[in-house]
Amino acid sequence: MKKEIKGYNRREFLITTVAGAAAGLLAKTPLGAQSPQGQAKPNPEKPAQAGKQPITRVLGRTGLRVPVVSMGVMNADNPALVRRSFELGIRHFDTAWGYQRGKNEEMVGAVLKELNARDQAVIATKVPPGRPEMMDQMGAKLVEEEFLARFDQSLARLQTDHVEILYIHNVSEPALLKRPGLLSALDKAQKSKKARFVGFSTHKGMAECIEAAVPMGRFDVILTSINYSMADDKALLAAMDKAARAGIGLVAMKTQCKQAWYREAQSPEVQERYYEGAIWHSALLKWALRLPSVATAIPGYTTFEQLEADWPVAFSLEFSADETKFLNDRGIQLALGHACRQCGGCAGSCPRGADVPALVRAHMYAADYGNFAEMRRALDEIPAGRGLESCAGCRECVAACVRSVRVPRRLGELRTIFA
Ligand code: SF4
Ligand code: SF4
Repeated sequence: MKKEIKGYNRREFLITTVAGAAAGLLAKTPLGAQSPQGQAKPNPEKPAQAGKQPITRVLGRTGLRVPVVSMGVMNADNPALVRRSFELGIRHFDTAWGYQRGKNEEMVGAVLKELNARDQAVIATKVPPGRPEMMDQMGAKLVEEEFLARFDQSLARLQTDHVEILYIHNVSEPALLKRPGLLSALDKAQKSKKARFVGFSTHKGMAECIEAAVPMGRFDVILTSINYSMADDKALLAAMDKAARAGIGLVAMKTQCKQAWYREAQSPEVQERYYEGAIWHSALLKWALRLPSVATAIPGYTTFEQLEADWPVAFSLEFSADETKFLNDRGIQLALGHACRQCGGCAGSCPRGADVPALVRAHMYAADYGNFAEMRRALDEIPAGRGLESCAGCRECVAACVRSVRVPRRLGELRTIFA
């Protein structure tokens, strides 16, 4: 282990000198390729942060040092956005085997190759282990083989022979961490040097999964959902602190609470009057990054405007007066009850046995991220008989949130998409 971390000294140097590297690349790399979907070009003006150093942190025991703002590539489909992110100084790119049916990894690989920047980047990808009932049938050997075969596909798409971080994708219960075949797959991925470090992602049952992972001592990095709507989740915050103290690098995702809570609770006029522009994005991102356990965050921006709102956060985590006002606003705090935090509290609320938290999550991908492929993938992961098919013919949805999320409305919208 010592040798591996030592091997990153040069990488740390490269990453911490991002401003210089970015300046050089800005000079030689053409900007502003048009998106396939016709998205706007990046702002050609010199960023206000040019020449300044972003705040960087070490990602736990990996020794990897990255800027506090990284890129969650999941919903982005514009290579120019990835390129621009690198040029600004972002070094950690988070993707997954399943995102956009492989196109997401292909885009990351192609951009890093074009920039000749593979050795300056930290690539994290996630491989799904398959549904529990399928793994039961497959047995440990097949589980391991299938996981590694998918990982090899990821490496090919990324045009690289290794990634810095390999995650088990979407761990929502501690038992999965000990599933025969998965840990041995991670061992083999590391022994073959295809994965430098390993971990898992979690956005349901996070506290339990993180608590279970710490004594195992097997995971270098954990990618967890954490945002302002979870500020009162003492179990999760304590588990994160424990993990960080144990040397696990914590990466924050879903930091922007990007769900309907904000617009459901506030009229557009109120938003515009009090919180113009990027204020709530920056405030929410800073809130997550100020947690002592969090090393970096992967906001899932999809436009240059959002990138321009998120990246400056890497240079100062101090709240502005407006950001403080936003976070302390009673209306905002009440509205947070409408943010689904995947606590699982609605799990038993459907008399037909539907997996309500998973359905709400699928709705989030479609309605809040506009990512229908990810919605489809989330639905496909639901065990047979517990997905949207349960809702066929159901006259009135009685599934209920323990907070204020309007579950029947969201599931109604989800059903409409498939009508
Ligand atoms: S809808 Fe409510 S109860 Fe269900 S997972 Fe989300 S926050 Fe928890
Ligand atoms: S629509 Fe009916 S079946 Fe579907 S989650 Fe709601 S109560 Fe359950």
